[in-house]
Amino acid sequence: MGHVIGIDLGTTNSCVAVVIDGQPRVIKNRAGYATTPSMVAISDSGRRLIGQMAKRQAITNARHTVHAAKRLIGRQWGAPAVVHAMETLPYELVRGPNDDVRVRLRDKVYSTPELSSMILQELRVVAEEYLGETVDEAVITVPAYFNDNQRQATRDAGRIAGLDVLRIINEPTAAALSYGVGRKEHRTVAVYDLGGGTFDVSIVEFQDGVFDVLATNGDTFLGGEDFDARIIEWLLFDFASAHGIDLKGDDMAMQRLKDAAEKAKIELSGVPSAAINCPFIHTPEEGEPLHLEASLTREKLDELVADLIFRTVSICEATIKDARLTIDEVDDILLVGGMTRMPAVSRAVEEFFGRPPRKGVNPDEAVALGAALQANALVQDQKDILLLDVTPHSLGIMVHGGGNEVLIERNTTIPTSATHTFTTVRDNQPSVKILVMQGESLRAEENDLLGEFVLHGLRPGPAGAVFVEVSFDISADGIVSVKARDRDSGVEQSITVNAVSSMSEDEIRAMQAENEDYLTQLRQDADRDGARDNVRRAAARLETQLATLGSALEQSETGRRAGDKARALLEAAHRALDNEDVNAYATLGTALDRLCTVFDGLASRMTTAS
Ligand code: AMP
Repeated sequence: MGHVIGIDLGTTNSCVAVVIDGQPRVIKNRAGYATTPSMVAISDSGRRLIGQMAKRQAITNARHTVHAAKRLIGRQWGAPAVVHAMETLPYELVRGPNDDVRVRLRDKVYSTPELSSMILQELRVVAEEYLGETVDEAVITVPAYFNDNQRQATRDAGRIAGLDVLRIINEPTAAALSYGVGRKEHRTVAVYDLGGGTFDVSIVEFQDGVFDVLATNGDTFLGGEDFDARIIEWLLFDFASAHGIDLKGDDMAMQRLKDAAEKAKIELSGVPSAAINCPFIHTPEEGEPLHLEASLTREKLDELVADLIFRTVSICEATIKDARLTIDEVDDILLVGGMTRMPAVSRAVEEFFGRPPRKGVNPDEAVALGAALQANALVQDQKDILLLDVTPHSLGIMVHGGGNEVLIERNTTIPTSATHTFTTVRDNQPSVKILVMQGESLRAEENDLLGEFVLHGLRPGPAGAVFVEVSFDISADGIVSVKARDRDSGVEQSITVNAVSSMSEDEIRAMQAENEDYLTQLRQDADRDGARDNVRRAAARLETQLATLGSALEQSETGRRAGDKARALLEAAHRALDNEDVNAYATLGTALDRLCTVFDGLASRMTTAS
């Protein structure tokens, strides 16, 4: 059976892991890193750049480089989060056909699942290269606080990447899995997950493979990007005060400030003060170019972001309450997400819980490792891991007068379902309209609309005498579906709730096909890179052998001939590498390897002879 990968699709960075011989391990990308930047760009020649390649050129190509697409996935046009994003992101947002948010890069408009799919596909190829086989199935993680729209959009991203998404699981739950699998004793852990764009906290109880999420809470618009934004605001304010110039409209300057702010923030996790230097940040029409230079101390940073950290702690407090626990009943605290490396963050967590967080959990890798464990458990049909997660938001319907009637309370264990019986309000009413909402407000309009559907063909009858039973299901992925039944006639309708169905099935299929071509290209590139690395490695080895044996080769005819052959082959190899003669790599690699073996033989014979 093929391997199933676990993918942590992060706002800032993503990570892929797989279970091999029972052990989960993170797969490093080609550059040797455990995480890959969640960035996508289209170059001026129309090339798709993903990950590190996209990040490297972000400053010079800010308008066509997407970072933090996860902040927009599954969101509705006009939502406060989107309005805010439009003000701060250098790339252009476009209203999609279903009121979803899309992004224009060069001459093409991309949906957010499509952008995320490119990152998933990149990770898929990273895993394929490592495993030496194709990978078709994955478990993908999402912030626990993602609603139905965001989950569906993430699943669509997986599908566009050609992956069969076996399960969507919550990031903090995945982290708890990576910590708890294999432990027999009963523990209650709080997972505090502060990443690049989102914050989640979950309280998970586990014992001997059974993971029971007691409560979860979070904010899908609170993360490292907001910390960076505070530093940027501070820099902008100082610059404007000194020079009377607002850099906000300058995409390139803003991208540079963003990089510099994040760099300073990360540096300040290790040192008490960091220098921020952006030379030539502004060139006025007349006069000298201006530079931005500042020094940021850890104290100042802590002050700039104090309210953000405070928000995360208040959410922790509410979650403990939801779990019906006291702080003392929490045994361990796990820190997940790159932002938890900031001392003020871990200090705030420690102060709140009254004990130090667990060491030894890698905040960047825990989520992907947990996803891989869950993936493995699903395909192996392992009975020794049982995951009981909860739904983060209440599910309800809009009732007469705009109220919100809750059918499934938040923090209910999933999968779950609930049934509600509707009656008609008019005589011979032909249809009934149902609005499905997710959220905690008593007023329906303040919650997220998941979908609206109309039940047609109701049996004629007096008002109040026709009953329609509607059942709401939340799957183990946290995805909602609805079934409706005329109670008397038994006529059924099944509806997948999907308000921000950001894409039609046809659109998804077209994107799949396009990505398929791209995947072939990526795989070829990976093969080519592998073959080139082989040539490089074997050539370096042969050069060392040649140098080691040196003049000893001249002592015999065989040695002389082998030496000549090696030098000729090395010359051919370097020529091929310089000219990127892709077709020659395979033959050269084999020839070099063979000669290395001959040299090994020569060397051992010479040592024995001497
Ligand atoms: P994640 O989404 O978990 O990869 O988290 C990424 C976020 O963590 C980004 O906002 C990074 O800037 C931030 N981050 C990474 N390393 C550090 C560090 N050493 N100190 C502070 N923030 C960090």
